[in-house]
Amino acid sequence: METFQESMYQLIVETSTNLPKDVRRAVKKAKQSESAGTRAAMSLGTITNNIQMADENISPICQDTGLPTFKIKTPVGVNQIKIKEAIYNAIAQATKDTKLRPNSVDSLTGKNSGDNLGGGTPVIKFDQWENDYIDVRLILKGGGCENKNIQYSLPCELDGLGRAGRDLDGIRKCILHSVYQAQGQGCSAGFIGVGIGGDRSSGYDLAKEQLFRSVEDVNPHEDLRKLEEYIMDNANKLGIGTMGFGGETTLLGCKVGVMNRIPASFFVSVAYNCWAFRRLGVKVNPETGDIQEWLYQDGEKVEFANEAENEVAASKEESNVVTLTAPITEEQIRELKVGDVVRIDGRMYTGRDAIHKYLTDHDAPVDLNGQVIYHCGPVMAKDEEGNWTVKAAGPTTSIREEPYQGDIMKKFGIRAVIGKGGMGPKTLAALQEHGGVYLNAIGGAAQYYADCIKKVDGVDLTEFGIPEAMWHLNVEGFTAVVTMDSHGNSLHADVDKSSLEKLAQFKEPVFK
Ligand code: SF4
Repeated sequence: METFQESMYQLIVETSTNLPKDVRRAVKKAKQSESAGTRAAMSLGTITNNIQMADENISPICQDTGLPTFKIKTPVGVNQIKIKEAIYNAIAQATKDTKLRPNSVDSLTGKNSGDNLGGGTPVIKFDQWENDYIDVRLILKGGGCENKNIQYSLPCELDGLGRAGRDLDGIRKCILHSVYQAQGQGCSAGFIGVGIGGDRSSGYDLAKEQLFRSVEDVNPHEDLRKLEEYIMDNANKLGIGTMGFGGETTLLGCKVGVMNRIPASFFVSVAYNCWAFRRLGVKVNPETGDIQEWLYQDGEKVEFANEAENEVAASKEESNVVTLTAPITEEQIRELKVGDVVRIDGRMYTGRDAIHKYLTDHDAPVDLNGQVIYHCGPVMAKDEEGNWTVKAAGPTTSIREEPYQGDIMKKFGIRAVIGKGGMGPKTLAALQEHGGVYLNAIGGAAQYYADCIKKVDGVDLTEFGIPEAMWHLNVEGFTAVVTMDSHGNSLHADVDKSSLEKLAQFKEPVFK
């Protein structure tokens, strides 16, 4: 079992740090389709740079390493209890080694277990089979994209598309709608797994199962093959693009599975996965516990050159690039417009769900006047002298802070918030009234942003756990795009509106 545990540790580390070959090829194709100098090209330049950095540093591609989910097939007679124990140990070790972020939180108390173990975490699902090896697959699917999963119960009415009936055409509409509703919040460009049929839970299981297929495989079911191809040909016409900034590529892969249902129910379940599509697998020798073969690693491995700086430089031709250092004045903020690229030097503070809730009812532990809040739950390491270093630090989904953000900005005089996916009308109104700005960083670019953080100056509110604490970060050249300004403009609202209009072109039946 010791060797098996080591094999599981390798699988976890490799999944968290090294994007599979099929996913790399899909990202490369997307990058080639964008025109130089656009926001989409700049985002993809940051993403590919980040993929390369994670690979070289053996550090998490994205700081959100999700809810680790294992799917295991064992020959008859293999002890599944021992396998579980080995996985628990490997998960705890990988968390200690900062290859995984501590992500297991008590749902009632909010307490983080610190080692990714706890009720329901990790998820381990077993099947038996007649083969003579153990097949272990792992997916690390973060919260930003998990929150964009959606389930439809047919028949239903869909925004932009009208009625979706209980047939292939209704399913087609649901899938297109699922891409539209995700916008950039799940760190597009994304991959979707679709499950047709089942009940509410088995439908989602089937959808997630599709994410274990190779990006490049061909569905053996003729109708589903046609459906997958249709979605890949048309979803990108919605123009949502990378990070929801607009652009040519919104979807990188679509896989559809089907199962029976009961007559009264017809569910279409969609599992949305961000570009940081971290899933790998291994074949393991049940006698020795050694890895015999890695899965999803056929064909060419795309290595990405560091082009993020070039892309930022190219974007200068299209955008205004402004450098800001806190404390920032209202006048500086009022000069910014949607589309400007901002580079931040100096201090910023992290703040996620727990901090936003806390600040609503308490004083801040530091003076936040003129400061920058970064929606981020980093992966942190402490050395023997007690100094903290940042191992991964991309933005988290900002919309969760919508109920608090505007009030907190006004209460403490915060001038800028950085996150991803955009925020809603309440925050937009507060930005206008108070003189604030929302900056969209590139979701999942955890290594790229960790590299911009030159020093950790302090931390407050550690009782909320590592990802939720308020970290005082000293940054250099931290680059993000203004997507909501103090003049009432929101790129997110604009892209949502235009993609909804484009969705309407798919209203007429295609599959009869
Ligand atoms: S890339 Fe985005 S959606 Fe994916 S895990 Fe990271 S933060 Fe979450």
